[in-house]
Amino acid sequence: MLVKTILNRCERFKCFVYGQVRFVTEAGRDSLDVEVKPRKGSAALCSCCHQAAPCYDHASEPRRFEFVPLWGYAVFLVYVMRRVDCPRCGVKVEEVPWADGKHQLTKTYMQFLASWARSLSWTEVSRRFQTSWEKVFHAVEYIVEWGLQHRNLDGITAIGVDEIQWKKNHKYLTLVYQLNGGAVRLLWIGKDRTVESFSAFFDMLGDKRSALIEHVCSDMWKPYLQVIAQRVSQAVHILDRFHIVARINKALDEVRASEHRRMQAAGREPLLTKTRWLLLKRPENLTEKQEPRLRELVQYNLQSVRAYLLKEEFQLLWTYISPAWAGKFIDRWTTRVMRSRIEPLKREALTIRRHKPLILNWFKAKGAFSSGVVEGLNNKVKLTMRKSYGFRHYKTIEIALYHSMGALPEPDVTHRFC
Ligand SMILES: [Zn+2]
Repeated sequence: MLVKTILNRCERFKCFVYGQVRFVTEAGRDSLDVEVKPRKGSAALCSCCHQAAPCYDHASEPRRFEFVPLWGYAVFLVYVMRRVDCPRCGVKVEEVPWADGKHQLTKTYMQFLASWARSLSWTEVSRRFQTSWEKVFHAVEYIVEWGLQHRNLDGITAIGVDEIQWKKNHKYLTLVYQLNGGAVRLLWIGKDRTVESFSAFFDMLGDKRSALIEHVCSDMWKPYLQVIAQRVSQAVHILDRFHIVARINKALDEVRASEHRRMQAAGREPLLTKTRWLLLKRPENLTEKQEPRLRELVQYNLQSVRAYLLKEEFQLLWTYISPAWAGKFIDRWTTRVMRSRIEPLKREALTIRRHKPLILNWFKAKGAFSSGVVEGLNNKVKLTMRKSYGFRHYKTIEIALYHSMGALPEPDVTHRFC
């Protein structure tokens, strides 16, 4: 069987045929060069208007487009590009179905690499297929751009907005997800966490689609609250449980850290050494070793212990079914905290009071989407960013996140290579 026969099965072009296949050794690497020629009687297409146009001239050198490797050999489609004299656009380079103007990799090969980049890191993919990190990046970028152009944005009724830190010096990204209808996916990424960045999402979505949104989930970040009130005022706005708990945990951690420092400075027994996760974890998640340590620790009259007990008590809130009773619980709990003289927690209690109506919306919207979904997405983003070692540039993170979480459509293929 000839390589040509295989190629005609998996990648057949209407207006082009495969010619000779030969072995080429370049820089110590063997590759298969497959000649591609225009099919007899078929006209070239203008890359500008995609219409047939008369041939103007040929390039002096053939171009090599990298295709999916075969048995460890790199495969190149070798083709002499033509220029057309288009009556509409003037003299333009022709359009070829296997590649676009920008890339040296064929579309099929880019889709192949991008598909591997779902399970392996980009560095790993480049190593595995003897290509560069940049080429893997361009492959994923191509697939993501195609997906963004062809995705369907209808039927979005619930969204969540989240912020994530991506650089040390307080650089944030704004992420918007679709949360409804079993279609949990990343819809949008913006630089910063400002009114402008979140507003840009609604500009992209358009007024018609924005008007169909019934539920919006967010944290307490002011610019987000502002944009939600402006752009989707019809929706039930829910302050997400995950973010509220995260804030209380952060306050508790402050209490523990400063009390630990005070005790050390006063030369007291270091009771709080290595207690961070002991106090932050839910009791049901403690290990066998941690459990007795916590039991011992709570016997001491420490501010951290009182803060811990208040944090644990707050978890009861989520067991309420009626918003009215949940509201009464919030009143009682915040009053207790305000009397506790634990400053970081008092600060959070005030915030919770101020946002009580939005927090109670969580109970009204119960069942609209699963409560753990925002937390799950937040973890997945962090995981992608950790895996993407070397992603220092915004564009790279954007592409990686859309690729892993955007549930984007992909071009149809006649043959799946992997
Ligand atoms: Zn044209």
